[in-house]
Amino acid sequence: MDERLLTDADRQLRPGQGQRSPWLREALADEGDPAPTAALSGETDADVAIIGGGYTGLWTAHHLIERDPTLRIVVLEADICGGGPSGRNGGFVNSWWDEASGLVSMFGPDGARACLDESARSVREIGEWCEVHGIDAHYRRSGMLVVSTTAPHDDRLDDDVAAAAELGDPDAFRALTADEIAKRCRSPHFRGGALMRDGATVHPARLVRGMRRVAIERGVIVHEGSRVTKVGDGPRDSLRVVTAAAAVRARRVVLAVNAWAAGWPGARSRVLAWGSYMVRSEPIPELVASELGWTGGESIIDARFSVHYLHVTRDGRIAIGAGGGRPGFGGRIGSSFTDDIGAARRAAFAFRWLFPQLRDVRLTDAWGGPIDVSPDHLPHVWTTHGGRMLIAAGYSGNGVAPSHLLGRMLSALVLDADDPITRLPIVGRPGPPFPPEPFRYVGARVMREAMIRREDGEEAGRRPNGFLRELSRIPRRLGYHLGPGE
Ligand SMILES: Cc1cc2nc3c(=O)[nH]c(=O)nc-3n(C[C@H](O)[C@H](O)[C@H](O)COP(=O)(O)OP(=O)(O)OC[C@H]3O[C@@H](n4cnc5c(N)ncnc54)[C@H](O)[C@@H]3O)c2cc1C
Repeated sequence: MDERLLTDADRQLRPGQGQRSPWLREALADEGDPAPTAALSGETDADVAIIGGGYTGLWTAHHLIERDPTLRIVVLEADICGGGPSGRNGGFVNSWWDEASGLVSMFGPDGARACLDESARSVREIGEWCEVHGIDAHYRRSGMLVVSTTAPHDDRLDDDVAAAAELGDPDAFRALTADEIAKRCRSPHFRGGALMRDGATVHPARLVRGMRRVAIERGVIVHEGSRVTKVGDGPRDSLRVVTAAAAVRARRVVLAVNAWAAGWPGARSRVLAWGSYMVRSEPIPELVASELGWTGGESIIDARFSVHYLHVTRDGRIAIGAGGGRPGFGGRIGSSFTDDIGAARRAAFAFRWLFPQLRDVRLTDAWGGPIDVSPDHLPHVWTTHGGRMLIAAGYSGNGVAPSHLLGRMLSALVLDADDPITRLPIVGRPGPPFPPEPFRYVGARVMREAMIRREDGEEAGRRPNGFLRELSRIPRRLGYHLGPGE
């Protein structure tokens, strides 16, 4: 990262500082800054208790209510609904077609195709759901561009493009030349890439806050400010879900706490918390059109593993993120996930590097949050407590559409419904576990440095030396689907 590209104002940007993300501030202001719902008090009963009031918890509640409107569902959220990454993400609503070859290698063509079709269905259904419930979450379905920004990445997409064709849906992920990319968005660094059809964008916080509103209207009981500290056995085969001052007894419990799962028994070896940071420009709709020609609404990612992701908001801002934050230690989600100035600067740098023609544009906001990296880079659902508690985690930074898929899946599993979605290969144990602490943290730090050094070097036109290349490939050699493959 060449710090000289940053402006003085970029260097002054401070993520965190106790502030909510700008998306969530906007959504809350639109709602008239409502008070949180009442915290859980006393002892209560429920059919299903859901821990976590982000997309996963709320989609699960919605699909449960759809399946059985008589259910008593209690959602327990430590903060407010949307206070976590569901209220501060990049707004990419993506299917998994850009990971098709990896899915085929893990699950075979039929398992892969089933996952891909369900992921694409979620992209569509999120838009339809917003429409039906009158939620203006700025949903726009225009596909996603995956672009190569450096020679070593030019053939990184070939396997996924080939896999889409082999699976019988070549339009789901098709190659584009540099000229075709330039017609959609101009950057001196875009060298070619591919278009994923099943991709959309949203205002992330308007979506999660709309989901909260509809859940409450439909009878879901939402307790905010209610951090769960323990889940143990309750009377008559129930589980007792305990907060500092109260408890819920429920027949089934869903743990939907995203990166916080890295600190939970039964989940900590399967989830590594990692930081992802974003910045946002001032509104520049005219420049986006005249300087970039980026008017089609496509979201864009590059082909790095420490990915850059960007889209244009409805008010014409460019929001851009960089997956270059740091790993967490021992499941603690502390200030390194919200206040890491260096990680936010990486996102600012990506903006300056990709779009030198926007040199005079001001970046107005910076923020970050934790993502839940899984060993195979995919979310999974598994159970503990003799099948009574279901855990969903591992989105690895792509959870907006997949949380809808997992919500559908969790609702079917909770009710023991005979639904084909429960037979997708992401139900069950994800790949090899992460090592215990402190090896997990130390290993993840070393891998992060190696990966970022390698990918920054490649972007600057330097070939990585043999040592760095080998180091950055260690996760793959250990059987994880993480880091560069070659
Ligand atoms: C900066 C950033 C950008 C991202 N960009 C994208 C993107 O563009 N596209 C995409 O698909 N994904 C993106 N992601 C990932 C995406 O935001 C998540 O995968 C998704 O929001 C997961 O939803 P969730 O409900 O599982 O988690 P969350 O939204 O994190 O919800 C979990 C909730 O659990 C609560 N909680 C934690 N512990 C407890 C407890 N003990 N008791 C009660 N409640 C608890 C938390 O407060 C939180 O609200 C991004 C993430 C970040 C951080």
